[in-house]
Amino acid sequence: MSIEKNIQIVQEKIEKCCNKAGVDKNSVELICVSKTVDSDAVLSAYNFGMRSFGENRVQEFINKNEKLPNDIRWNLIGRLQTNKVKYIINRGVFLLHALDRQELAKELQKQCEKQDTVLDALIQVNISREDTKAGVYEEDLQMFLDQMVVYDRVRLKGIMTIGPNTSDENSIRSVFAKAKQIFDKFSTEVSGFEYLSMGMTNDFEIAIEMGSNMVRVGTAIFGERQI
Ligand SMILES: *Cc1c(COP(=O)(O)O)cnc(C)c1O
Repeated sequence: MSIEKNIQIVQEKIEKCCNKAGVDKNSVELICVSKTVDSDAVLSAYNFGMRSFGENRVQEFINKNEKLPNDIRWNLIGRLQTNKVKYIINRGVFLLHALDRQELAKELQKQCEKQDTVLDALIQVNISREDTKAGVYEEDLQMFLDQMVVYDRVRLKGIMTIGPNTSDENSIRSVFAKAKQIFDKFSTEVSGFEYLSMGMTNDFEIAIEMGSNMVRVGTAIFGERQI
């Protein structure tokens, strides 16, 4: 199956879910997760009209960003090591999805100040509480947000979560419902909250039903990853 055909199928599914949820199909942003995929594949998706891509390794992001068109909106979706922050500031990152600790916020602030710029970020929330997952726990979120006030170079744009590692739809649904509830609550308190990033290949349809407005889809578009 071609990348173009795969994207079309994903887009049709998104549209269907949006209709079901009663929201405009353009209100859900599809991020093509291109981690491990080569630049030619990214370019195929780009030429088909896609502009949002997701990467999780800094070096890979930098390589692709140098080679590929500069109107691509790069999303950094993986855990970011503090010592890599300096390489991603002012490098065309549209959104960092995985702000998960104060130490990272502090370094983002420092490097943004150095380069006199800002960075948009989502707080990763660990709702399923699986210890293999990063993210702030729900009960710590208020404090996390309070502490973020001093980091004025990091503009908070919403939250990101990863669904539980299960095929049980009800568990997935309840995690995403919780995320939506948290997102709505803090949207009224934090100005600029805009994105609820949740849903991957196996669960993006449930995520949209539960209120996601940003889905991160890799496998369904580019096929199974080799690594
Ligand atoms: C890899 C990855 C995705 C995409 O996963 P697929 O199952 O291939 O769609 C989405 N979000 C994050 C955080 C990822 O690491």
